[in-house]
Amino acid sequence: MLVDSHCHLFHCYQKIDETIISKIENNFSHLINIAINEKEIERLIDNPIKSNVIKNAIGLYPEEAKNFDEKKAKKFLSYFGKLNVYAIGETGIDFHWDYGDIKIQEKLFRFQIELSIEKNLPLLIHSRKAFEDTFRILKEYKFNKPFILHCFGYGLNEAEKFLELNSIFSFAGNITYPKAEDLRQVLKIIPLGRLLLETDAPYLSPQKVRGEKNNPFNIKFTYEFVSNFLEIEESEFEKNINKNFEKIFISS
Ligand SMILES: [Zn+2]
Repeated sequence: MLVDSHCHLFHCYQKIDETIISKIENNFSHLINIAINEKEIERLIDNPIKSNVIKNAIGLYPEEAKNFDEKKAKKFLSYFGKLNVYAIGETGIDFHWDYGDIKIQEKLFRFQIELSIEKNLPLLIHSRKAFEDTFRILKEYKFNKPFILHCFGYGLNEAEKFLELNSIFSFAGNITYPKAEDLRQVLKIIPLGRLLLETDAPYLSPQKVRGEKNNPFNIKFTYEFVSNFLEIEESEFEKNINKNFEKIFISS
């Protein structure tokens, strides 16, 4: 059975109906569905997805940083009583888009870091063109649960630094792209016990379906590719990823 440690079902499907849920349940042991703003989180609360396989992560994406204030923080806290939450995020720092300067983004990031520690939940981290700041902030904290560097996209030097912290590396479909040689060099140095795979669907379709809108089921291409690349038998590799997932997200 497969694991998708990071996808956005609300961006993949207009309606998450019974057909989609049962197809997911037939193919996956675990799938993390991320809600990244108030609108998406409230949609989850109003229409919970009834599945033991599909697990909720809730967070405020860096895009929300400019509007974040005490009132928004309070509201976010109230969600935890209304949902079964497996992780906080995705949250982080992004200098690719204009989401605000470091001061603005850091405030929202720290809020969710501290909350993940307080609630003993894993943290899903989004970091784009912001290695220095992401690393500087994360280094300051002592985490109970590991944090997950979602869609890891930095180089070897950055990976080595993150390895010194208790971080988990999650790779998306772009690891399969012909030009992603540098990223595959990173993959080589990550211990198997600190590795996860994700689709980040509907984004980053693996090479075999590149150009199409991504969906969680395409993760099979990434499993195939990565297990080949690491020269591990595919079913053995799947077992390893399942074990990692359960250790991070399920065991208390
Ligand atoms: Zn995402």
